Amino acid sequence: MSPGPSESETRGQLGAFPPRTACRKEVTITSVRRVQHEALGNVLEEAGTSLSNVLRLNCCLTDVRNFQALNEVFQHYFGESLVARTTVQIARLAGEYAVEMEVAKGGKRVDTNKRWGKVLWQEMTRPEFEEAVRERAMVIIPTGSTEQHGPHLPVSCDINNSYSIAVEVAKRVEDFRLIVSPPVWSGFSPHHIEFSGTISLNLHTFEDLMMEICKSIHRHGFRKIFMLNGHGGNNAPLNSITQQLVQEKVYVATVTWWNLIPQELREIGESPLGGMSHACEAETSLQMLLQPEAVRLDARVKEIHPPLMSMAKNDFRESGPIAYGFDFKRQTQHGVYGDPTLATLEKGQRIFDATVSKLILALREYYAVEW
Ligand SMILES: [Zn+2]
Repeated sequence: MSPGPSESETRGQLGAFPPRTACRKEVTITSVRRVQHEALGNVLEEAGTSLSNVLRLNCCLTDVRNFQALNEVFQHYFGESLVARTTVQIARLAGEYAVEMEVAKGGKRVDTNKRWGKVLWQEMTRPEFEEAVRERAMVIIPTGSTEQHGPHLPVSCDINNSYSIAVEVAKRVEDFRLIVSPPVWSGFSPHHIEFSGTISLNLHTFEDLMMEICKSIHRHGFRKIFMLNGHGGNNAPLNSITQQLVQEKVYVATVTWWNLIPQELREIGESPLGGMSHACEAETSLQMLLQPEAVRLDARVKEIHPPLMSMAKNDFRESGPIAYGFDFKRQTQHGVYGDPTLATLEKGQRIFDATVSKLILALREYYAVEW
């Protein structure tokens, strides 16, 4: 087993370009490191190319507040023209910009759609993982559940949503590489266990499972690990293990997808509060988009319950400060909390697109974080 780069090696490579991939052998790649920005044009000219052929630019700023300086560099050299891929790395360096460029001689551009290798972890071979570590790939772990979602949705709803979002994001992002791990279909669902079809882990088993997955991925050299969650019951355990893993020097981040887009859900949703919670307007709309063959539209029932306490809001669009134990068997009739009768394919598409866009922004920011 290859242990992957150590922490210090990874830090030493800050901003370094990944090795050439097969598609990038078509062009000559020049790496220009740690040059004062005044000299960039000259350096490129000596290398037989020009600023117009810059495919990718990494800037390491001397000061995290120095975005204005970065903008000056961009405007000076590129004006309004678009650099195909730009990554801003934030680091403390000694009194100069560290700039790395990837350029094509003769103006021949690489096909950005073919830039990176495989997206799905389960399809990769061992050498491909070693290459992905050198490319400083980020790994997304989709989490969800196998649990009842009322009479109309499949039990795979939550994991299908997070996995589908993760794969779409990984395909779209071009400025760094994303790999999607195998989806974690088992979650923490004690509140659904009384309904048929639910498979639940207990709290510590779920936490241990996620910790071991994160630690395994980290052990191979991946330093950016992001858990994308699709099940409300996993939310608190995942937040806890992000802290627990700090003790192991494994730094990860997590989000439950609907928490990325509360404003968009307020605009898209037609149901009153309580209409987007479980097997609801939002989840049903997404499933109509993502696995329509598994949705029984004619079996939809509306169940909106007031929260047991006014300061506990059970809705994707708004959460209150108070949490309490919610037992679906006791507190709902059909295992539904929300209004799936208002779900539409069009809403599913809007929710999917909004989540993907927001997640891309979040992951770009996370990629630039140096722990
Ligand atoms: Zn769900």
